[in-house]
Amino acid sequence: MSHGPFQAQPTTKAALENVAGQLRQVLGLEKVDFFPVVKVLEFGLPSIFENFVFRVKEGPAMGDQHGLTFPDDSEIWLRDDVYEGVTQGKGRDRFTAAHEIGHLLLHSQRFLSRRMGDQPIRTNCDPEWQANCFGGCLLMPAILVKTCKYIDEVMDRFGVSRDAARHRTKQLNLSMQEVF
Ligand SMILES: [Zn+2]
Repeated sequence: MSHGPFQAQPTTKAALENVAGQLRQVLGLEKVDFFPVVKVLEFGLPSIFENFVFRVKEGPAMGDQHGLTFPDDSEIWLRDDVYEGVTQGKGRDRFTAAHEIGHLLLHSQRFLSRRMGDQPIRTNCDPEWQANCFGGCLLMPAILVKTCKYIDEVMDRFGVSRDAARHRTKQLNLSMQEVF
């Protein structure tokens, strides 16, 4: 989901790792490799946020948006084909859902502000960067990823795409070969 003219409060990768870790902890999932995205959307988040609503929307209602989040209404929408992909364990769709969970936790209106003029947004204030970084941390906790030896192992164990696995291991300064 795009935030257009809005920016978020500045944050750091370490802070986002921390928020993702806290969510896993509240859900009792600290040691689980394969983050159960569907269960969390359908049961986990409603158990934490009383008013949380998860909806699967048909393609035309979503256009080219894979997911949409309304943090102040505690609501996440996924496009039907994306939801289908999540249920099939597709890495890219699982990442979209994790990204939207990031918006839910981080981007209430009270934490967003309107950007001034045409100035480029600072990376650490960009809601999309923050949601992506959070998504990577949620699906691939540092402490668990560090036990992997290969990119393929990261993909299998955490249910992520090759790109996401490469990006996360690079971010953690882990050098890994691609295949078993
Ligand atoms: Zn987004």
